[in-house]
This record gives sequence, structure tokens and C-alpha cells, in this order.
Amino acid sequence: MALQSIEQIPLRGKRVFIRVDFNVPMDERGTIIDTTRIENAARTIKYAVEHGGRVILASHLGRPRGEADPKYSLSPVARQLPGIIGIPVGMAEDCIGQRVAKKIDEMKEGDVLLLENLRFHPGEEANDASFSRELASMADVYINDAFGTAHRAHASTEGITQYVDVVGAGFLMNKEINSLERGTANPERPFVMILGGAKISDKIGIIGHVLNKVTTLLIGGGMAYTFLKAEGVEVGKSLVERDHVDQAQWIASEVNREGVKFLLPIDHIVGDRFDPNAVKKVVSNGGIPPEWVGMDIGPATVRIFSEEIGEAKTVVWNGPMGVFEMEAFAQGTIAIAKAVAQSKAFSIVGGGDTVAAIKMAGVTDKISHISTGGGAALEFLEGKSLPGIEALREKGEDR
Ligand code: AMP
Repeated sequence: MALQSIEQIPLRGKRVFIRVDFNVPMDERGTIIDTTRIENAARTIKYAVEHGGRVILASHLGRPRGEADPKYSLSPVARQLPGIIGIPVGMAEDCIGQRVAKKIDEMKEGDVLLLENLRFHPGEEANDASFSRELASMADVYINDAFGTAHRAHASTEGITQYVDVVGAGFLMNKEINSLERGTANPERPFVMILGGAKISDKIGIIGHVLNKVTTLLIGGGMAYTFLKAEGVEVGKSLVERDHVDQAQWIASEVNREGVKFLLPIDHIVGDRFDPNAVKKVVSNGGIPPEWVGMDIGPATVRIFSEEIGEAKTVVWNGPMGVFEMEAFAQGTIAIAKAVAQSKAFSIVGGGDTVAAIKMAGVTDKISHISTGGGAALEFLEGKSLPGIEALREKGEDR
């Protein structure tokens, strides 16, 4: 469906309202600890500046619960933005209202103004029509570049698009959509999907959606133990979602029916307790002692999974293979990160933990697409429509 990119839209002299994701981690002095999200938005902001837009940036930060709270002010971001993206930025005291409108009236081509936290108003998360209209009154062109919040129907991601004539996607948003579509709509095969993390319940939606597309499904992490339990394997004190054992059984039979290669771990690194300093050993399936916990995939599993990844043309990975936050149990996840990095496949990695693991393994630049949106990427991979993206498409249809 038609979706306009910022490059197709004339910007000169226009009030270009860009929804960015500046929800960045800061220390208690307001220094931004991780600037990745700001760097990700830089290309769109610079493009709008270079093309003569009067650039208005809007974002949320944290969860201020619908009222102004200095703790969640975006002013520290405005102060540090020039140092990060090399462009001077003004700061508005609010995101709506007459004083902000006056500031915008005074802006010249190429000026940039950051609005105060959108979530200082309850209308943002409520997707309130009058708040959406107020935001829209400040925009000639609306650009959404905040993929991380695209799965939320909020005023600044969805409501506003109903009241601005020209809407489009920024570079980051476009890259996310194109890459995730390449990995899901018509993926080149063999298509290997790797799922891990704590809970099977979070990933069931994805499995159901990709069953008729994937060649191979590799399951690691805590969620593997519910599947193993469903197969009758003794898993000791490992994480098992008892309410989902039946579902795991059903998935295993569906996977068989579709002819998907479905691989669970065949060995494990187990700990005598869930603790970074636990005594650990490697055991095969069937060998987890009653009081021990499965903490990571074992070396034989790493070998088998890596071979599958090596043959893939498309790889999608979400969820760590073990309790990678504990150094003693990070090996499996890091080995899989390296296998994905070495493969020639088009690779997509999503989810905060998995992206952190990729960084830990030092292979960030060897992944084709690292998704910036955890929840949004998951929903996209599940085949759900994301309100922030649909709103841009619908507008494209109207044209
Ligand atoms: P998720 O948010 O579902 O992707 O889960 C990520 C979390 O899963 C991480 O914090 C990991 O520590 C955890 N995890 C991975 N493997 C295991 C395991 N074998 N047992 C318990 N937790 C695990």
C-alpha cells in the first residue's frame, strides 16, 4: 500500500512536524547515557533542515502520566542534541499552546525546535481528537520516524495524521518497514528463525504467523524448556510455563505438518541454582538433574544451530539463548550472535536483549538490520498491523 517517503515531499518553507523517538536513557544529571536513538533520527532531521523545512521535533520521554514533571523534561536532550547531530536546536516550553505556536511562527527555513514531552498531556496516550488537532495545527507536513512507538495508536503517531494533509515516513521508519518486510513478506529461503528469551507466551504469535514461511525454527533460551517438557524431557528446575505446555505440543505438531525443521536444544549448560556464581556443567537432554536449572544452550546445540544459520539466506532472531546477563551463561547467546554475523544471509535482529547481545559479541556492523523497536518489531513479525504505519498508508490511499 502506498506510503510516502520524506524524499517525495516538498519541504521548503513548510512546518515539518517530525515524530521522533527521543525516549533516551539519562543519568541523574540529565546526561544521555545511550545516544543511539538520537543518532538513528539524525538522517531525517538533517534532510528536513537541508531541504528548507521549519523543523519541529516531537517525542515522548518516560512515563510522566499525563502531567508536566520536570524529571521527564526533554530540555537535556535539546541541550545535547547539537553535540550529537551537529545542528542547533531550540526548545519549546510545551508541545501545544499559543506560546509554542508563536515560536513556530517565528521560525525560519532550516530552524529546528524540539517540543516538550508529548506525554505531559493525557491526550497523547489517549489518542484524544482535540489534542491531535492541536498538534496538527502546528504542521504543514507530518513525518513519522519513531518506529519504536508505531505499534501504539497515540495522538502523535496516529491521531494527528487525520488532520494533516501531507504525511510520510522518515528514513528510519522506511528502513524498518523495508527490512522487516524483506524478512517476512517474501523471504529468501532457507529462512531460519531463531527464537529465545524467557517466555514462549510472548513468541507464540510470531511462530503461528511464520509457520508457512520458515524453513527452520531454532528454539533456545528459557522458552525451550516448555517445549522439552511437552516432549516428556526431564528439565529439572528450568523455567517452564505450565499453562503453555499444551500449546507447545500443538505448535510442535503444526510445525511438523508444515514440514518446518524444528530444532530444540540437545544439550544445556545447567546451574545448581539461578545465580551468576552457580556451579555449572554441561548435560545432554535427559540429563538435567532434578534440582538444577537450564541456563544456556550447550556446545553441541551451538554447533547444530550454527550450521543451520550458515546455510540460511534469511535469518530473523529474537530472544537470547540463555541467561546472557550472567557472564557464566552468556556463551551460547554470543556464539549464536557470531554465527548470525558470519552468515551470508539477510539478517534481522530485534528485541532489546538480543540487540544487547549483538553488541556484547561485537558484531553490530555485521547484521543486515538491527530493529530499533522491540515491541513494534515483534508485532510486525507477528503480522499485526501497526497503527502508526497504517495511518501513513491510509493517508497515502486517500491521495
Ligand atoms: P524475553 O524478554 O522473553 O526475550 O526474555 C529475555 C530474558 O530471557 C533475558 O533476561 C534472559 O535472561 C532470559 N532467559 C534466557 N534464557 C533463560 C533461561 N534458560 N532461564 C531463564 N531465563 C532465561
